[in-house]
Amino acid sequence: MKIFFNVPNPVDDETFSSWLFRCSSSRLTVISDRGGLLARPDWTWSGGLIKFDDPDFDVNTEFFNRACDIVRIDKHLAAILFQFHDKEVVSWEHRCWFCPECLRDDVKEGRTPAWRKTWCSSHSVFCMIHKVELVKLKGRPSYSKAWDAYVQICNQNLIASTWSTERFVRLRIIFFNRIKRWLSVGADSGEINEIQDRLFRRLFRVFLQLPTQRRDAGIARTFFHQGRMKKHTDLITFKENLHLCHQISEPRSRFGCMMLLGILLEIIPQIDSLIFQRYCEAEKVYFPDVLGIENTIYFGAINREDYKFLHGYLGLFPRRNWPRLDAFLTQQDDRYQRAGVCSGMMLGESL
Ligand SMILES: [Zn+2]
Repeated sequence: MKIFFNVPNPVDDETFSSWLFRCSSSRLTVISDRGGLLARPDWTWSGGLIKFDDPDFDVNTEFFNRACDIVRIDKHLAAILFQFHDKEVVSWEHRCWFCPECLRDDVKEGRTPAWRKTWCSSHSVFCMIHKVELVKLKGRPSYSKAWDAYVQICNQNLIASTWSTERFVRLRIIFFNRIKRWLSVGADSGEINEIQDRLFRRLFRVFLQLPTQRRDAGIARTFFHQGRMKKHTDLITFKENLHLCHQISEPRSRFGCMMLLGILLEIIPQIDSLIFQRYCEAEKVYFPDVLGIENTIYFGAINREDYKFLHGYLGLFPRRNWPRLDAFLTQQDDRYQRAGVCSGMMLGESL
């Protein structure tokens, strides 16, 4: 069905800036200001981080309004069509993970490649249409990133590894789906599930923390990150680190992190996590021993001020509801007490 006249139809799940780029390069369309459709968001400094405007999901920007005028579409309809309900949207400059098969399908169907909204979440790991892990765009993401990514995959020789064997990818997708399903209903099914949902999302960030001179990388980043790990500046605060770290994590670390949390929060039954561990062993991929996971994983070393922040960030929750998480946190409490960064304060409990 044609939604808009005189401009290309948006692809299912396409972002606004991607669609505008395709409109700007469409020969079928008479457009007065093609350059006005190319998203070049402004940015400002916010503490130690750069904060970009969001040309994809913020309908209150001047860009959104001007672009709708140029292509002569109804703003209300565009706002509904391009909205994205995801609590973990990554910011503009970190939207760089994509599915190569989706882009190939676009070209096969005779259109310029399109960037998908689902790739813009820090919980995004696989393309659920093609059952493949997302791939990273090289270079800075811009308004033409879907096209840039397509050019990249045309010139790229992929190196096969056991991580990408079809059988292993499919197994990971089964676990990923289970966790995503749980996350999609978690917060809406009662108070305790709301707490568990919050815990998952916050621990997800803590486990993916970026390493700095002063702080260790989060445990999921330490275990699963591929390649060299760059240390970040100590100028970013613990809070800024947690804001940024999950956005610039790669699918492999995201998935490993989800598995650790799935086990700790008992979203994945032990019998299933043992099956996963056996597969990892067979594929020669590291995964910590599921039976003693509480003793293998840890929070990084932090100072008193960071501890106070972490305590507030995780909030209050009844630890006894999650025995494995409780056992893990008891070890962290002991460590932090021995290190002198807290005195008798327990994570998850009030003072
Ligand atoms: Zn795909």
